[in-house]
Amino acid sequence: MAAKKVPVIEANFPGGNILVEDIRGNTIRLRQDTRDTEGWWFYWCFRIRNAAGTTVHFKFTNGAVLSSRGPAFSYDGLAWSWLNRDEARGTAFTFSFPATAGEVYFSMGMPYLERNLKFFLDKNRKSPFLRLETLCLSRHGRKVECLYAGCLDRQPQVRVLLVARHHACEMMASYVMEGVMRYLLSRSELAGWLRENVEFMFIPFVDKDGVEEGDSGKNRRPRDHNRDYSGQSIYPEVKTIREFVPEWSGEKLKFALDLHCPMLRGPRDEKIFQVGSRYPRVWQEQRKFGLILKKCSAGSLPYSPAFDIPFWVGWNSPQNYRGGESFCAWAGRIPGILYAGSLEVAYATADGAEVNQKTATLFGQRLGRAIAEYLKNSL
Ligand SMILES: [Zn+2]
Repeated sequence: MAAKKVPVIEANFPGGNILVEDIRGNTIRLRQDTRDTEGWWFYWCFRIRNAAGTTVHFKFTNGAVLSSRGPAFSYDGLAWSWLNRDEARGTAFTFSFPATAGEVYFSMGMPYLERNLKFFLDKNRKSPFLRLETLCLSRHGRKVECLYAGCLDRQPQVRVLLVARHHACEMMASYVMEGVMRYLLSRSELAGWLRENVEFMFIPFVDKDGVEEGDSGKNRRPRDHNRDYSGQSIYPEVKTIREFVPEWSGEKLKFALDLHCPMLRGPRDEKIFQVGSRYPRVWQEQRKFGLILKKCSAGSLPYSPAFDIPFWVGWNSPQNYRGGESFCAWAGRIPGILYAGSLEVAYATADGAEVNQKTATLFGQRLGRAIAEYLKNSL
């Protein structure tokens, strides 16, 4: 008789995060490693081998950490699919491993790491409209990317800043950001207008260490990256953004967008929405942009201004920012700025539609178009 197979679960790779409690027969109990997160959050990602040909039940012991489409899985860590089954209200799933399965990756989302960005940049390394630089070094010594794109060979008319991953785990937002980059390099006429008139700066991983080390990053102790924009910044990325962006802007920065993902489950969070600014003049611009985004995103993931959360509604109130100022509150005061907002991109389901690598990237392309139309209308 063949020796009984014992599955091996690992998290020692970029983005990895899991704690295994026990393995009994074909049932594995496990939970997310919340590390320095204040309170509960739901990020996890692991790799399993030695499970080929078996059926394994995974039971999570700390809350609903699966989307309403279940986990995402991948055979190479790059191409991901949702299991598309919601079992036990987001606390368990069952997977039958093909007889030929080697390593299989599972996560609550579809991880987007430095290597995903490199893959995109390698494909576009000859483009004169894209230039990679380093914003700063992270606390753990990683290079934090800063990408310039669009109008680079002369003074632009306008500047645009897009940032993501203030919260390390919010990876679906990164596919949207890559979509904007793709749009900018595309053959569309409006993209050509952007390349002639608009300089973009992209900071894809504000919490670079958190992304690579597999942290949630949300509500991090002692300070959340997105509450580090007042007083003395403790993170080098935020400190550099605060020092460098106003100088780079030269009062030409008109549009600053921070991409996020909301909570994992529930009707409020299974949407794409803007978070309303505390500044009424910026909120007006968000409303204007919302109408354009709705029109431009038709045929991709659904977005409607009706999903937006104005300031003073729900969690979007001064109470939520007690820990310090957010990127958007800070950016909304940069001289000359029109739009300074954040866009929340649901992890798995947006108003009923499936959010995945492809649809999130396509939505990003439409977002790029919406930014172009907004700027053309505003200048
Ligand atoms: Zn966030």
